[in-house]
Amino acid sequence: MRTAGFQAWLRQVAHLTRRQRDQLFAALRPAVDLDRACATIEQARPDPACPTCGGCRTHRHGVQRGLQRYRCCACGRTFNARTGTPLARLRYRERWLPGLGGMLEGKSVRATADALGVHRNTAFRWRHRFLHLAKHDRPASLTGIAEADELYVLESQKGSKRLDRPPRTRGGVARRRGIDGDHVCVLVARDRSGATFDFVTGRAAVTCAQLQQHLLPVLDPDVLLVTDGHAAYQSFARKTGISHEALNLRKGERTPGRPARAEMKWTPPADEMLERNWRVKMKGGSSRAHGIKVP
Ligand SMILES: [Zn+2]
Repeated sequence: MRTAGFQAWLRQVAHLTRRQRDQLFAALRPAVDLDRACATIEQARPDPACPTCGGCRTHRHGVQRGLQRYRCCACGRTFNARTGTPLARLRYRERWLPGLGGMLEGKSVRATADALGVHRNTAFRWRHRFLHLAKHDRPASLTGIAEADELYVLESQKGSKRLDRPPRTRGGVARRRGIDGDHVCVLVARDRSGATFDFVTGRAAVTCAQLQQHLLPVLDPDVLLVTDGHAAYQSFARKTGISHEALNLRKGERTPGRPARAEMKWTPPADEMLERNWRVKMKGGSSRAHGIKVP
């Protein structure tokens, strides 16, 4: 639309009735959602390398359906930020972010599909592609002050050929109270910059050996690890020489006693993870599909 025409049209917006404004908003909504989706994709891969030859020398080559297109100087192929990712060739981009929002709210595949006006197979495919991306989206390491905590979820063996326990109905409950072999332990660690790692350490409570296997490789040597003081963390810190601050949560201790470290307010990362319903509370899908694979 030409600028002069657009300005004249924009002036008319002030005179719309409420109903007309609603109609205008509904008409703009898909385009706004598409812009947000494109911005999110490009933000995730600001300077993508060539997915064909891995070459880093590229130049801009026009815009295709809202996404910047690049051309590789080495092999001449064109691509954009989603080429070669699990999001390539998925359609209805304008509905992805509302779809992802529905997933994180714990909506079922069918409810998400109905809300978005897509087929349930499409909503199912999106869910698995998004999960695939989330599994591989990892920061380099944890630095400064890092908090670690565990999250216990009932393992879903949906789709498994053989179950190693009696089947449960509709997710069900554990056979016994407390943490036992029915639960899978998800170890969550996060630093103050927001970099977050999660690992599936196995069935039942986390051990020192599992912490050494999973947590140690992602910790910066100078990190200060803050935990709830579980015995496994204590012996992990002793063995590896990582600085460790254990908080006594039973005594209501939320910040460590030393004044110099008063800025460290304990916010267990696993709580936040549950709050965000991330991976765990999403209805449907086996543990394996959610990246919770018992080693
Ligand atoms: Zn190339």
